[in-house]
Amino acid sequence: MSLAAGRPVIAIPGPSPVPDRVLRATHRASPDIYGDELAELNLAVMAQLKRLAGTQANLAPYIGNGHAAWEAAGANIFTSGDRALALTSGHFGRSWAQQMEAMGVAVERLDFGSLPADPDMLARRLAEDKAGAIKAVMVCQIDTATGVMADIPALQDAMGDHPALLVVDAIASLGCAPMMMDDWGVDVLISASQKGMMCPPGTSFVWFSEKAAARGRTQLTTPYWDWHARANAEALWRFWGGTPPVQQIYALDEAMRMILDEEGLFAVWARHAALARATWAAADEWGQGNPGIRLAVADPAARASSVTAMLLPGAEGLRSWTASHCGVTLGVGLGAEQPENALRVAHMGHANAGMILAALGAMQAGMVALGIPHGAGGLDAAARALAEPA
Ligand SMILES: *Cc1c(COP(=O)(O)O)cnc(C)c1O
Repeated sequence: MSLAAGRPVIAIPGPSPVPDRVLRATHRASPDIYGDELAELNLAVMAQLKRLAGTQANLAPYIGNGHAAWEAAGANIFTSGDRALALTSGHFGRSWAQQMEAMGVAVERLDFGSLPADPDMLARRLAEDKAGAIKAVMVCQIDTATGVMADIPALQDAMGDHPALLVVDAIASLGCAPMMMDDWGVDVLISASQKGMMCPPGTSFVWFSEKAAARGRTQLTTPYWDWHARANAEALWRFWGGTPPVQQIYALDEAMRMILDEEGLFAVWARHAALARATWAAADEWGQGNPGIRLAVADPAARASSVTAMLLPGAEGLRSWTASHCGVTLGVGLGAEQPENALRVAHMGHANAGMILAALGAMQAGMVALGIPHGAGGLDAAARALAEPA
C-alpha cells in the first residue's frame, strides 16, 4: 500500500525546499526595471548577501547556477596558462578543477578521496612554490557528493604568506555552516541560490576581496563575466549584465529576511548542525545491525552540516521505496564507488526536525519492508539527539 499522498518531503541536496513565503514573494509582476523601487531593493539584497557571507568586500551577482559562478570566478582570477592548486574531496571539487582546466588553467590536484583537505599537505606544497607560480588554491567548503566539510580557517592558516588567492566553493554550505569570509581571509567565495539560500535555482554569486580585485582584468575576463563591472555597478542592469532576474530579487530578499533578521545566522547554523547530528545518530545505530551501513565520512569534525552521505546496501531500492510508499525523496549516491549502495540525506536550507524525522522514519520503515538488516534503534537515537539541548 502506498502512503505517499500528502505533502512530499524532498531531502535531496539541492535544489532544497523553498519556503512558501519565498515562493509567494516571487508571485508578482515585474515593476519598471528603471524605477527606484527595484534598484533600492537590489542594493538592499546585495547588502544582505554580504552579511550572509561575513564580508564587506565586493559582490558580483550572476544569472546562472553554481557552474556559472565557477566560470565567472575563473574568468576574473586566472589568465591562460596560470597555475592553480585544487584540493579535492569528492565529485564537485574534481568537476570544478576540470572546468578550470578547460578554460586553460594548469590545475594541479591534491586529492583527499573522501577525507577533508589536509592543511599540512597544503603548507608543504606551497612551501615548494618559492616562485609563487600557484595563483589560487581552490577548495569546496562542503563537497556535496561525499558530505566532507573542509576546515577553511586551518587551510587559510596553512597558506602562510604565499601570495595565492584562497578560493572557496560555498554552494552547499553558505547559509548552512559557518562562513566568515573576511575574518577567515577567504579571497573569493562562490555560492548559488538553491541550497542554503532557500531560493529557486537560477542565480549565483561571487564575493571577492580587494586582493582578488587587484588582479585586474585578464585575457579570460570577457565582458559578461567581468566581476568589476557588476560589483561597482551604478545602474541596476549592470549588476546583472542585462535584464535583472526580478522575481529572484524578491525571493532573495524574503529568504535573507528569514535567515538574517528572523531566525538569525547563528541559529541557522546551529539548526543545521543539530539536524546533521540526528542523521548521524540514526545511521550509527542502524550500522549496529549491519556493518554495511555507515557514514561516508568517519570523523564527525569533517562531516558536513548540510548533507550526509551514507553507504547502505540496497540504497537504490530503499530510495525508490521511500519515494513510492512514503512520499520521501532521498538523494542519490553521487560519485560513490557503488552508487546503488549509497545515498544522501539532505538537511539543507529550509529543513526542520520534523522533516528530518520524516526522512529517517521513512528510511527505517523501508529497511523493515525490504528486509535490509539494520540496528533497530535508529529513530530512537535520532529522537534523543534532537532532544539534547543545543
Ligand atoms: C550543487 C553544487 C555545485 C553545482 O551547482 P549547480 O547550481 O548545480 O551548477 C557546485 N559545487 C557544490 C559544492 C555544490 O553543492
